[in-house]
Amino acid sequence: MREPTQAEVRRELEGGLPGLRPPRRVVVVGAGLAGLATAYELAGRGCDVTVLEASDRPGGRAYTLRQPFADGMHVEAGAMTVTPHCHYVMHYTRELGVELDTADLLDTEFAYYLRGRFLRPDRESIATSGLPLTEEELHLDVPGMVKRYVTGLADELQPDLGAEEWRCTPRLAPYDQRSVYEVLREHGASPMAIDLMEPMFLEMRGGDLKSASALAWLRHEASPHALTNADPRWSKIKGGTDRLPYAFADRLRDRIHYRKPVVRVRQDAESAEVTFLEHGSPRTITADRVVVTVPFSAIRHIDFGEAALPADKIEVMRTLKYSSIVRVYLQVRKRFWQGDAVSFSTDLPVRWLRDATPHNDGPRKILECLLTGWRARTIAAMTDEERVAFALDQVEQVLPGTREHFELGTSVAWDRQPHVEGSYILPEVGHEKLMPIIRRPEGRVHFAGEHTGFEPNGGSMTFALESAARTVLELDRAS
Ligand SMILES: Cc1cc2nc3c(=O)[nH]c(=O)nc-3n(C[C@H](O)[C@H](O)[C@H](O)COP(=O)(O)OP(=O)(O)OC[C@H]3O[C@@H](n4cnc5c(N)ncnc54)[C@H](O)[C@@H]3O)c2cc1C
Repeated sequence: MREPTQAEVRRELEGGLPGLRPPRRVVVVGAGLAGLATAYELAGRGCDVTVLEASDRPGGRAYTLRQPFADGMHVEAGAMTVTPHCHYVMHYTRELGVELDTADLLDTEFAYYLRGRFLRPDRESIATSGLPLTEEELHLDVPGMVKRYVTGLADELQPDLGAEEWRCTPRLAPYDQRSVYEVLREHGASPMAIDLMEPMFLEMRGGDLKSASALAWLRHEASPHALTNADPRWSKIKGGTDRLPYAFADRLRDRIHYRKPVVRVRQDAESAEVTFLEHGSPRTITADRVVVTVPFSAIRHIDFGEAALPADKIEVMRTLKYSSIVRVYLQVRKRFWQGDAVSFSTDLPVRWLRDATPHNDGPRKILECLLTGWRARTIAAMTDEERVAFALDQVEQVLPGTREHFELGTSVAWDRQPHVEGSYILPEVGHEKLMPIIRRPEGRVHFAGEHTGFEPNGGSMTFALESAARTVLELDRAS
């Protein structure tokens, strides 16, 4: 079977997947966006499709928190932003009638809180900051540093880097052997300049600059999805990101089975078998094909011992790294700070603090704290109550008065979130070689999900949806 290419997948989906002949019976494991879109396309073409979901809701990492907040406020625990270039999100929101709204991430008053002081990213503030920057950096603002160290390098690597269809050419390959940090240092960036630039790119993605592949990062930074290329038309899903998975779930109805964790997948020449728990007891169903959309961070709960998986697949399932992200939310009685939509990058364990409800009509607000990498792993080990108390201590330093106005809080630690156990893939040095192994079908078992994307920096809804379209084509070619 020939693997569909990235361009083919897009063309075929836009053309309505003409003449598709899916297998007779398919089991999809996981009702995140990848599983839901796979099932939706298959069901629409007469396939007998069953979705088994371990949790009690659709959406996985497309997860809107509506509790315990007052006044109907909500926040996003996972996916939040959609760019006009999120082709597959645009496709399905149109098709399912899900509305978009303007993103509130861009029109913020961004500043740093470093060494106990506020600092704006402009040239004058940097020049007088006393920070240990190089002579050249002291004359730049932060966007100027990004231009000097990131955009300049990305431009040198064009047209290969920004090619519509992702391919690691000989010119690009050496960048997959070095980390983001190494490449930035080689190009003259001081450690302090890297710290200042980090919120503009990987800090937001929970990356670890010393192990993340420079190539995966550069590809993302050269793309229209990058914050450094932010387009004022960035959007979010109106009413909460979970509206998209619920729209799919509405179409699939009783084809989705909640609280049915899959524990074993087996296959032989004739069929595949999926065992799941129903009220704690194992139950097995058979199918022509199985689509596994479980993130590799949580796949160890499934026994593939009799699924005839090759050694390289098992190895990558065991070793693929995921970023660590914790979000803590603090509801306060009213806006007690100066300015509209605050957004601070700090050198405290709470790396990023922002008003998560800038357009909320009522007096109440929710402050969102983001922790990434080792800081996130540390706080993840605390109870929810401890995380809230810890964040409150930190935020009080940046926004005095938080404690006085604080009403309630909650948190989501993605490393501890059942059935996900990570936020999104962290493409480490050498990731390029793993990509075809991750998405390769193994006999009757197919793999979809954010981590199986064609792009080295998978972590987004659009690539999860793209992986579903790719899998649907694969199933057609295999049957
Ligand atoms: C903090 C954070 C911020 C993000 N921000 C953005 C953003 O701004 N924009 C954007 O586009 N994307 C963003 N993303 C990424 C986006 O949310 C994901 O890429 C996408 O939702 C992944 O979809 P998926 O279907 O591949 O995986 P998931 O959503 O993880 O779905 C997998 C499903 O499988 C289920 N499952 C697991 N194990 C089993 C089992 N054994 N049996 C049955 N079911 C099982 C899980 O419960 C889950 O429902 C963010 C993610 C996070 C965590």
